[in-house]
This record gives sequence, structure tokens and C-alpha cells, in this order.
Amino acid sequence: MTQLAPLFAVPAAPVIPVLGENNGFPVHRIFCVGRNYAAHAAEMGNAVDRTAPFYFNKPPTGLLLNGSTMPYPPGTSDCHHEIELVIAIGAPAFRIAEDEAESIVYGYATGLDMTRRDLQQIAKDQGRPWDMAKSFEDSAIIGAITKAADFRPESQRISLTVNGETKQVGHLSDLIWSVPEMISHLSRYYHLTAGDLIYTGTPSGVGPVVPGDHLVGEVEGLVTLELTIGPAE
Ligand code: MN
Repeated sequence: MTQLAPLFAVPAAPVIPVLGENNGFPVHRIFCVGRNYAAHAAEMGNAVDRTAPFYFNKPPTGLLLNGSTMPYPPGTSDCHHEIELVIAIGAPAFRIAEDEAESIVYGYATGLDMTRRDLQQIAKDQGRPWDMAKSFEDSAIIGAITKAADFRPESQRISLTVNGETKQVGHLSDLIWSVPEMISHLSRYYHLTAGDLIYTGTPSGVGPVVPGDHLVGEVEGLVTLELTIGPAE
């Protein structure tokens, strides 16, 4: 069948800056890991589960770059910040072993998984999917990528301030599922490709944002991430 020309243009995901490169990292998919720090699982009322990691997705076209203003999202009155380490995948992988998994990492970035917490609680209570709570426009924010040769996750500090006040603090050594474990497990269910992002979960201290807030997220050794919350549309 011949390839049709598109009838109209549709939004495309932004290309992410990479330290030391003139060109950027194109985004294919966004996977997010749930409950990956024990202290955050506890604050959400959940026990640590080492059975298997679980995931949700976010729309790549809604990705916001560093320094953006995120309009306060519709349909919520309890939008929360979640600061996270993001893995940028740089090569294909299907059923990759844990001891080989780091070989397909292009680099790492600091990210925010913004969450409509009130809708998530309703979904949990009703046994429904989390899409309305997690997968919405402008819900994923990411800073410039640092190549894997220049950063290896160990025990670096991960933290977030809102208007200069520290809200979230943890260390990458607190991850329940390590970077190799997440990649290997996810690759049993998907053909991972260059351009995929994995948001790896948030430490404790999540909380609400309001219009006017200025968020600064840091993973020690990576580019600092800034986000402003704009008025509701
Ligand atoms: Mn998260």
C-alpha cells in the first residue's frame, strides 16, 4: 500500500537537549514506574511490593522542557509534584538481561511526573485505570539529558523545592527497583527502542502545587529542572 500524505499536521513531541550535542533526543514513548521508593509507597498507604514493578504511560506530545510554564491542569483541585530520575533509552532491547541493561541507556535526566492526585484516588477506590490521573497534557517535564558516560546512578541525592522550600528528598540508592531491573523487566513486555523514556518513580514528600508556584528539581550530577505553574485555563 502506498504511503499517504497527511491531511493535516498533528502535535509532535519536543526534542530534548543533550549536554555536549548540537542536536537533541527525539522522544518515542514515556513509561513511568509506580511506587519505587519505600518512603513514598508508605506515604501513599501502600506496602513495599518486590513482586514486580508496575507502569503507566504519559503522552510524549505533552512533554514540557526545562523552564516551561505548565498551565494548572483541568479537572483537578489537587495536582501534585513528583520529582524523578529519568532514563533515556538509546538502543533497541527486547528481553534484555539485567547485567546488559545499562548498555542501552543513552543518558539520564531530571523529570517531573505531575499527577492529578484526586483523580488517582478516585481511580484507586473504584479499581479503575490511572490514565486520567497521570496521562494528561503537560504532565511530564524533563531537563536536558546527560550522557550515560558522564553519569551513573548510585546514591545521588534527588530533591525538589517549591518556592525555595524543600518538599522532597531522597537518594537514588533508595530505589526499590534498580535501573537494570526496570529496563530488563520492561523489555519483557515491550520492544524498547531509542527514544523511549522511563520515569523511575518519586521519593517521599509529594504534595500539591498552585498557580504561581516555582518548582526546582535536582538529581545530584544532572541538569537542574525548573517549572512554573501557570493559571488554570
Ligand atoms: Mn511518579
